[in-house]
Amino acid sequence: MNDTTHARIGLVAATAAGRRHADTLAAVWPQARLIEGANVADALRTAWAQCDAVVAFLATGAVVRIVAPLLDDKRADPAVVVVDEAARHAVALLGGHAGGGNALAAQVAAVLDAQPVITTATDTVDVPGLDTLGWPVHGAVAAVSRAILDGEPVRLIADADWPLPALPPNVHATDDDTPDGGYRLLVTDRVVPADGRTAVLRPPSLVAGVGASRGVPAAEVAELLHRVLAEADLDPASLRCLASADIKADEAGIRSTADTLGVPLVTWPATRLAAVDVPHPSEVVRAAVGTPSVAEAAALLGPDGRAGDATLLVGKTARAMATVAVARHAPRGRLAVVGLGPGAADLRTPRAVTELRRAAVVVGLDQYLDQVRDVLRPGTRVLSSGLGAEEARARAAVAEAAAGRAVALIGSGDAGVYAMASPALEYADERIDVVGVPGVTAALAAGALLGAPLGHDHAYLSLSDLHTPWDVIERRVTAAAEGDFVTIFYNPRSRARDWQLGKALGILAGHRPPGTPVGVARNASRPDEQVHLATVATFDPAIVDMYSVVVVGNSDTRLVGGRMVTPRGYRWRS
Ligand code: SAH
Repeated sequence: MNDTTHARIGLVAATAAGRRHADTLAAVWPQARLIEGANVADALRTAWAQCDAVVAFLATGAVVRIVAPLLDDKRADPAVVVVDEAARHAVALLGGHAGGGNALAAQVAAVLDAQPVITTATDTVDVPGLDTLGWPVHGAVAAVSRAILDGEPVRLIADADWPLPALPPNVHATDDDTPDGGYRLLVTDRVVPADGRTAVLRPPSLVAGVGASRGVPAAEVAELLHRVLAEADLDPASLRCLASADIKADEAGIRSTADTLGVPLVTWPATRLAAVDVPHPSEVVRAAVGTPSVAEAAALLGPDGRAGDATLLVGKTARAMATVAVARHAPRGRLAVVGLGPGAADLRTPRAVTELRRAAVVVGLDQYLDQVRDVLRPGTRVLSSGLGAEEARARAAVAEAAAGRAVALIGSGDAGVYAMASPALEYADERIDVVGVPGVTAALAAGALLGAPLGHDHAYLSLSDLHTPWDVIERRVTAAAEGDFVTIFYNPRSRARDWQLGKALGILAGHRPPGTPVGVARNASRPDEQVHLATVATFDPAIVDMYSVVVVGNSDTRLVGGRMVTPRGYRWRS
């Protein structure tokens, strides 16, 4: 029961408070309903019999006594979560036939604002440290997870240099994969014999190219694919996608095979396929579809058209109506460019945190690294540098990713706004994967503090003339002034750059009424946050420093209740 959206959830409550909490769950989960009975024990027994999962608002002891005689088989019994009267705790009591008692407890807790209470040592669908990968894991997962948590030595043996997250220090990477009676964590697409001490993580390395005649049955595609993989000792859990020709994109038998495997179907134009060098080209196929190879060429092109990264493991193998070939694609380094938001931890996105925990190497300015040390996994390598070392920082991050590692390059606010994304991506080439995580940029944090100054068209301008000549900046300020844009100044002023802001405001003042509001947000969302409001006529640039952004309204912007508001422009002004 990993997904509350499909399972039937029975709610059992004895008291008014319990019923209220049950109603709250029923209101958000249409598949959950209150089960009544002659008494609460009766209701619980009915729920047990009828539902995939039960949430009981009762004492744990009462629930244990009532369900004890009903316990049968882990594979058939429902999951049970027990919640106390005050909805303080959601206890995962029984996992249930499809597992997921822990997940249900977490979901109940999220809705009721309770604490989930989970007592299984580790959720055995994941290996600690590798849970952010989302890769299938097979074999002795519980035993190896336990060993990792207990600090016992575990050998990590990977077929290729996958960009893995930082792992606990008791997990040692090695090439020696001979079983020695100790715990092993293999990263491989190969079939591995079970031995009770080996867990196998399945990287998304394989691409199956599929060709077929019109109307091919799904069963034929699936059977051929599974047979080809089994004969080559390859595990289907490592399939990254199926690949074919564009003209096969709507072939139901191929599409439904991909759906059943839970992988995407990627298709390529015949011209792209025709350009791939394959071992078994066919003139008959060329005459029919415009490329001498579909299965082999598509397997090699894979998800992103990089045949150069791929090795054909199984050449085209045909059955009545279908053809399959399998290629292995080499791993690529991974660069996540992560915006941390303006400062406060709760303005950092959950995805930013996931990416920081996904990385083995984190690169950034020392002061930003200090903000995130608490979320990094132990063993994460941190490359910190001081202000002004942008180029070196960008190069270092890209070099680490190019060496095949999982790297997070961090920046405050949004990492793409006057920050590290541009220099990094100027150096990065197509040999690494790049993932961007947007962050709350200073202008948005400032806007929220000042009121609603960004309600109409606005322009961001950096007043730093370190990298941009002043005449370019001045031209853009003039354009923003003439265009009547709300204007946000980043890098507005520092000890060494003390006249630019006054000059820029003078240009804007020439195009705005003297009463136009100007707002300053200093250290937005940080401990010493400050907000200041003035007008273009009264504003004193000397109060501004490099920890501030300055927001100048357009000619419509006004103060309402002490807040800066730029109208959406719905009303005609007289
Ligand atoms: N990438 C950052 C901007 C970096 S440029 C972002 O998206 O926010 C640095 C400038 O951003 C600073 O000089 C200041 O003008 C502004 N800034 C960054 N964080 C800020 C904050 N918390 N409060 C006010 N201004 C901030």
